[in-house]
Amino acid sequence: MLSERQEYLEGGLSELACERCAALVRVRKSSLEQTSVQWTTAAAGQCDTDLGALVPTCPGLQASIERAVLAGRLEVP
Ligand SMILES: [Zn+2]
Repeated sequence: MLSERQEYLEGGLSELACERCAALVRVRKSSLEQTSVQWTTAAAGQCDTDLGALVPTCPGLQASIERAVLAGRLEVP
């Protein structure tokens, strides 16, 4: 998962705020199951989840992403 972070500079990123900690991250869906999340240093500091390779998103952000997809605010190819 970590190697995917290199691709984040490419297009297709949408800004999304975590509904739990309000951290602002950039998100890109490469498929319905695959989500790339780009954390800024500020966002990572704002989120109280211990982010790492095994926990690429906090639970609140996960829910926010799913909601955004359902609402059509996040494009899924
Ligand atoms: Zn969060």
